[in-house]
Amino acid sequence: MTQNTHYDVIAIGGGSGGLAMVQRAAEYGKRCAVVEAGRLGGTCVNVGCVPKKVMWYAAHHAHGLRDAGAYGFDLQVSGHDWNRLRLGRDAYLRRLNGIYAGNLERKGVVVYPGHGEIGGPGRVSVDGAVLTADRVVIATGGYPIVPAIPGAQLGITSDDFFNKLDKLPARVGIVGSGYIATELACLLAALGSDVTVFVRFESVLRSFEPMLQEKLLRQMQQDGIEVVTNTVPVALESDKQGLSLLAQNGARHAGLEVLIWAVGRAPNTATLGLQQAGIDTDQRGFVRTDNFQRTSLAGTYAIGDVTGREALTPVAIAAGRRLSDRLYGGMPGRHLDYQNIPTVIFTHPPIGTVGLTEPEAREKFPDQEVRVYTSEFVPMYYAMMETKVRTSMKLVTVGAEKRVLGCHVIGDGADEMLQGFAVAIRMGACKQDFDDTIAIHPTSAEELVTMR
Ligand code: FAD
Ligand code: NDP
Repeated sequence: MTQNTHYDVIAIGGGSGGLAMVQRAAEYGKRCAVVEAGRLGGTCVNVGCVPKKVMWYAAHHAHGLRDAGAYGFDLQVSGHDWNRLRLGRDAYLRRLNGIYAGNLERKGVVVYPGHGEIGGPGRVSVDGAVLTADRVVIATGGYPIVPAIPGAQLGITSDDFFNKLDKLPARVGIVGSGYIATELACLLAALGSDVTVFVRFESVLRSFEPMLQEKLLRQMQQDGIEVVTNTVPVALESDKQGLSLLAQNGARHAGLEVLIWAVGRAPNTATLGLQQAGIDTDQRGFVRTDNFQRTSLAGTYAIGDVTGREALTPVAIAAGRRLSDRLYGGMPGRHLDYQNIPTVIFTHPPIGTVGLTEPEAREKFPDQEVRVYTSEFVPMYYAMMETKVRTSMKLVTVGAEKRVLGCHVIGDGADEMLQGFAVAIRMGACKQDFDDTIAIHPTSAEELVTMR
């Protein structure tokens, strides 16, 4: 390793945010380096969005096979080969790691494998060697939280789900109610696991539009997933029958083969030397940033999950690219607006959601100004079969002009439906704009422009 090499910018963390930032900076002709302790691509590529979506597609096929008979196919499915799926998935991830390395090399970005630490303004040490730069970007992401309760280490995290699980568990418990708990529950159930989800309160996805919570819960139950409410875990134990989750209310949930913790993520900041460098963090360790991704140390920025903002890949990428545009691209005001971020939860069926929920709109605006439009229907796909998976939609509008503040969809195709509607909402579309848009028929999406 070259020591005392000076760069225009160094990113600590080669995940979605760090790579996006340095690659854009390199396109502006800057000398860039990235320090990465693990595999290039970070969480999204290695233990997040990408392998998860592969698994989602596998589950999607399981549903398709279930439905094929209604369309005249006479199929004998003789099982599912988890290992074949896993090997194919992991080979794809390795190809992506290689593509990322190639892209960096082509752009002249130098990669330093190892653990980066901030040694002061413009100083980064990588396993002992010192690099210097005009600017440093912290993009170290996060890691899955394991609750601090006895026996917790007997459970696995989403990282382990991808890296360690070598067969489909027959009976799996999942603790949590957010993105990962619901996504893994739906895909494991589709592939044949007996799934129980343990939630602390009454519902899943509690920070999302209530309609989405209610419909997803109903669908999960219809698909045979047991959702055990009001369960606060206090211990995890192992015996001959498998794992038992003990809850605060005295309940004991026994006979689990695998227990997955999906209770949120914490930032990778403990070993970055932030305190000594004078970089402020919040109580949970997330790096505090302003609207321009600046930290409390001049010349040091933070982007992506490590900032505690919306923990999504496109958010980390957008923050990184906009930062480079501002610093090196002659766009002084360029920054990421964290409002109206569209997001998809890859459950079965998927959820697409952007903007305010109905309760948020009613809290922000006078009640009489908020008008809501809803639709629930069985998509044509299910017309010929007994199992029906309904689609539900909600538009939240405000004011006499009925500006659309929120769009929430659960149903087949919601994942691909939402992106365009997110553009319209960002541009300030009103209900009349939706009404004046000609429907595309026959689709589910057409319901969003024909609501009354
Ligand atoms: P990361 O991608 O986590 O990258 C941080 C990198 O920094 C890592 O490679 C890490 O090894 C490295 N690092 C950490 N500390 C150091 C150090 N001191 N020195 C050197 N390197 C270091 N988002 C979506 O938009 N869509 C999805 O479908 C989706 N699915 C997900 C599924 C799962 C199971 C998970 C866990 C996350 C998912 N996400 C999804 C979220 C998404 O993965 C993250 O928001 C995104 O990866 C954040 O990018 P980042 O650059 O901030 O951090
Ligand atoms: P989430 O924040 O989505 O959900 C975690 C939930 O677990 C909490 O909201 C809380 O819900 C519950 N919880 C917290 N602590 C405990 C506890 N001690 N015991 C039981 N339940 C607890 O986190 P995830 O881990 O699911 O995902 C992390 C992030 O990764 C997401 O926020 C998202 O930003 C990103 N991600 C994005 C995906 C996508 O874009 N499709 C997919 C996967 C992840 P409650 O208060 O209801 O108990």
